[in-house]
Amino acid sequence: MGLLDVERFLISRGHLRDIQSALQDGGVRGEERFVLLSGSRRRAGEVLIKSVVVPDQTAGTHERGMSITVGGDELARLNRVWSERHEQLLAQVHSHPTFPFHSSVDSRYSIATLEGSLSIVVPNFGFCDMTNLRSCAVYRIVDGQWCWLPPRLVDALVAVI
Ligand SMILES: [Zn+2]
Repeated sequence: MGLLDVERFLISRGHLRDIQSALQDGGVRGEERFVLLSGSRRRAGEVLIKSVVVPDQTAGTHERGMSITVGGDELARLNRVWSERHEQLLAQVHSHPTFPFHSSVDSRYSIATLEGSLSIVVPNFGFCDMTNLRSCAVYRIVDGQWCWLPPRLVDALVAVI
């Protein structure tokens, strides 16, 4: 089942801090980092993020900038873990060295692929305010395309609890 019907993603401040420290840990090495958020439905139209995981990943550079690769074995392992916990992948997060946007490489190699999933791109390797998502660029997959969500929509869609 897709996530397009979800009108509210709940995330705790603690999880935002965990994400931020993972991104900064990559940043101080000069590397972008990928973090995956999983969780489950609380009620119709609402999901709760329950786990933040930093997958095994390889940071690399390519002609358009940096990139991150997560291997198929690691993704299969995570899918087993999430399934055992009755969770599903809800959102992916990754950092950029400067300003946040979804590059064509980001879109092509997304890990979150379900309709309605979120992709959150964090600027400055996570050295920014992350008590909410206003510093970040937030995208959602609609009809197979990653669409940027303006801050007003993000405020309505993502609640920090
Ligand atoms: Zn990117």
